[in-house]
Amino acid sequence: MEGLLKGKRAVIFGVANERSIAWAISEALHAEGAELAFTYAGEMLEKRVRPLAEGIGAKIVLPCDVTKDDEIEKVFQALKQEWGGLDILIHAIAFAAKEDLSRAFVLTSRRGFQLALDVSAYSLVALTRHAAALMEGRGGSVLTMTYLGSERVIPNYNVMGVAKAALEASVRYLAHDLGPAGIRVNAISAGPIKTLAAAGISGFKDMLHYAAERAPLRRNIDAEEVAKTALYLVSDLGSAVTGEVLHVDAGYNIMGM
Ligand code: NAD
Repeated sequence: MEGLLKGKRAVIFGVANERSIAWAISEALHAEGAELAFTYAGEMLEKRVRPLAEGIGAKIVLPCDVTKDDEIEKVFQALKQEWGGLDILIHAIAFAAKEDLSRAFVLTSRRGFQLALDVSAYSLVALTRHAAALMEGRGGSVLTMTYLGSERVIPNYNVMGVAKAALEASVRYLAHDLGPAGIRVNAISAGPIKTLAAAGISGFKDMLHYAAERAPLRRNIDAEEVAKTALYLVSDLGSAVTGEVLHVDAGYNIMGM
């Protein structure tokens, strides 16, 4: 299967460090021959992201806070200039205020709600619109990351669950819009994995234990397993799959009791 993505160009949003799900996906895409471009959210993260990106030969490494339209535009202008086109967009971004991930959902403020939905859901729409312009005439694949908290109540996940529900609905609407252009849009609903973002959720350790005890496979999953599924969805292996939310969670989501 080596070289599944030979000649393909992918832009990755969401690497914070080597534990990021986006990084595991990047390594898998790189191993299959894709050329990668990276973005980072702010100077603090550049120190982490740049060496990782350059370590796998990436030449395009740019700042992008997805709440800033001008930064988004600059990234896609650079991709147009350097590459002329694009095949794959990886969106692995989410954010909510810490207080909104630790107390009752009913206390979510207007500001907290807007922030979580803007960064975690609207950003997919904005990035996909720009990516689709570069995929014109060649087709392409967009992949985002979601979690079961969109479908079920996961205590403390709160407004992020609402944001993920909006994200998953966005996947379906984007898939409908862009299908005629041969652009596929999918999401992976991953089981809990210890990352920087996960550390912000109160009681995350309990989520890990609970999931491992009850999932049919009786274990947690790792980022490399998400990356293998990502490879399937963004490559020709997934050529007829779009608008899909695929669970990679050791089967946890099927359980009722
Ligand atoms: P992570 O902290 O490594 O990645 C989250 C990324 O979001 C970071 O790179 C961060 O810089 C970026 N980000 C936050 N605000 C941003 C902004 N304003 N502009 C641009 N980027 C911004 O954690 P992760 O767990 O790898 O998260 C990646 C995705 O996977 C997220 O969407 C998350 O919700 C999802 N997910 C994670 C788990 C888990 O258990 N870790 C499970 C299911 C889904």
